[in-house]
Amino acid sequence: MDLYEYQGRALFARHNVPVLNGGVATTPEEAEKLADSLGDRVVVKAQVKVGGRGKAGGVKLADNVAEAKEHSQNILGMDIKGHTVEKVMLTVTADIAEEYYFSYLLDRANRTFLCIASTEGGVEIEEVAEKTPEKVVKTPIDAGVGVTPDIAGEIVDKAGFPAELRDQLIDTFVKLWDAFVAEDANLVEVNPLVQTPEGKVLALDAKVTLDDNATFRHSENAEFEDKSAVDPLEQKAQEAGLNYVKLDGEVGIIGNGAGLVMSTLDVVAYAGEKHNNVKPANFLDIGGGASASVMANGLEVVLSDPQVKSVFVNVFGGITACDEVANGIIEALHMLADRGEDVNKPLVVRLDGNNAEQGREILTNANHPLVTQVDTMDAAADKAAALANEEA
Ligand code: GDP
Ligand code: MN
Repeated sequence: MDLYEYQGRALFARHNVPVLNGGVATTPEEAEKLADSLGDRVVVKAQVKVGGRGKAGGVKLADNVAEAKEHSQNILGMDIKGHTVEKVMLTVTADIAEEYYFSYLLDRANRTFLCIASTEGGVEIEEVAEKTPEKVVKTPIDAGVGVTPDIAGEIVDKAGFPAELRDQLIDTFVKLWDAFVAEDANLVEVNPLVQTPEGKVLALDAKVTLDDNATFRHSENAEFEDKSAVDPLEQKAQEAGLNYVKLDGEVGIIGNGAGLVMSTLDVVAYAGEKHNNVKPANFLDIGGGASASVMANGLEVVLSDPQVKSVFVNVFGGITACDEVANGIIEALHMLADRGEDVNKPLVVRLDGNNAEQGREILTNANHPLVTQVDTMDAAADKAAALANEEA
């Protein structure tokens, strides 16, 4: 989950990383009040989850409350790289002597954490890396050791930060590492990290990505979730504990196990080429213990996608055997009909693995008008694609 700057700033403050006082506003009037409470000189910043706000005119300094209101009025509703500005952050402003770059991130390629530091901040780090690669200093961080004051000191020296800022920078780098670990972040980026004319170090921007797999450990961060930006079906699926990703095609996909579902997407995309190019409509992994209610939730999510014309249920029986899954499918269809859901899209079911024979027999005997059984994955994908094309 990517955070807005104001959320990242709040997270920094929680870990005593030096940030400026401020708040957020969604209307010019709110911004005016906020500016009044902060003092005369404030900075107004567009809150969108994309960089380059400064260049796009989304960061403006104000010398008085009226100016802060005016800037907010102009920035709210602005489009920055396809993101509409719904909120502005206002903070007390700082004068800047130098702008630096600093980040911690998960370096998947090298299976480690990485610190990137540069005395050239305020611009995109990619740009610095291209023009003056010697000014981008990368330091792998050992997860078992973390960032001790000694290690932070080495980073300060290696990157060539001013000696007189050494203690402040060490303190900030250690605190940022504490935040990175404690919050289960994948990325913490401060650009710019500044030195004020008085020689104080401040984080003036905050870009934070939290690890979604650790969400359950951080109920205090649930408020960061941006409900308005989430697809309503993805929201519904998430609430039901399902692993669902909406895609752009016509064939709904339900399977058990992420690997099986991924290969199902491939097989359906391939089969779709012969049927007017229909494509998978979603990724949905109902997981190992697929009970009738889990199947019902999964079907409900997939069927309520108006783009879906047919559904391919691809199950490899394991711990939950195929006969249980077959019963689950039939029960789920009745359950949904009872709930008043529109159940009228054709289902292609392929069962294999543990108790496949029994499962197939259950579906044959149930003789549900919407259900077609096909025994192999390729043939089932072809059937589902053909049905989606007919219904489209
Ligand atoms: P980004 O362009 O989306 O990364 O937004 P930033 O938060 O990094 O702001 C862009 C630039 O605006 C910074 O590099 C600073 O030069 C400037 N800026 C941001 N906050 C302040 C502030 O409080 N005071 C001053 N003087 N400049 C600021
Ligand atoms: Mn920035």
